[in-house]
Amino acid sequence: MKKNCALILAAGKGARMGAGINKQFLNIKGKPILVYTLQAFNIHPEIESIVLVAAEGEAEYCRKEIVEKYNISKVESIVIGGKERQESVLSGLNKVKNADIVLIHDGARPFVSNRIISEGIKYAKLYGACSCGVRPKDTIKIINGEGFSIDNLDRDTLANVQTPQCFKYDLIYKCHKEIMKKKVKVTDDTSVVEYFGYKVYIYDGDYKNIKITTPEDMIIGESIMKELH
Ligand code: C5P
Repeated sequence: MKKNCALILAAGKGARMGAGINKQFLNIKGKPILVYTLQAFNIHPEIESIVLVAAEGEAEYCRKEIVEKYNISKVESIVIGGKERQESVLSGLNKVKNADIVLIHDGARPFVSNRIISEGIKYAKLYGACSCGVRPKDTIKIINGEGFSIDNLDRDTLANVQTPQCFKYDLIYKCHKEIMKKKVKVTDDTSVVEYFGYKVYIYDGDYKNIKITTPEDMIIGESIMKELH
């Protein structure tokens, strides 16, 4: 039987955090951020396996201090990522075995809910490609090179996309390999399939499903964690 596999990306440098260590190893309420992320997928009944992408030089630490220490039993392999996020995703996809659906998720998003994971699987099966997203809270403007606003976008037609971004495995693997050959740069995985003309369904994410990126996010993350755990 084919399975649902979570691909968790933790190979970033986290330069914007300025912490000197990989931001995903920082603790919230005594546990590394990456542990919460992995646990969310590990306990989900529809996830059969996890591939973890770690930075060069951090794979051993991830295995011992994260996966083994916290008994993240569904982790099938730990692979080394690349310089760009896109390269990290492809390294991970190369290792995914026998999957029907793959859920690509930022290791730095520890508050992903059971509902978001379940709906990601459901819509990926239905449409081939989907991502959760939320409506922007702020007005979004287009600005010109001199710093002046030249247009306002209609908020009702916009979404901030989050992860997981979920796909039929064969589709995303084929598209990632192709786009790498073409040397086209993207910042998320939905753009990869869109580049080749496939449609992506956007379903409801959650404002709590934040990506821990800058030091302020740690403060917000601590409060979200207090509410959830
Ligand atoms: O840098 P950013 O916060 O957008 O990264 C999103 C996720 O992608 C993070 O969890 C990060 O560890 C991961 N990433 C990666 N390999 C890279 C860059 C980012 O796995 N080269």
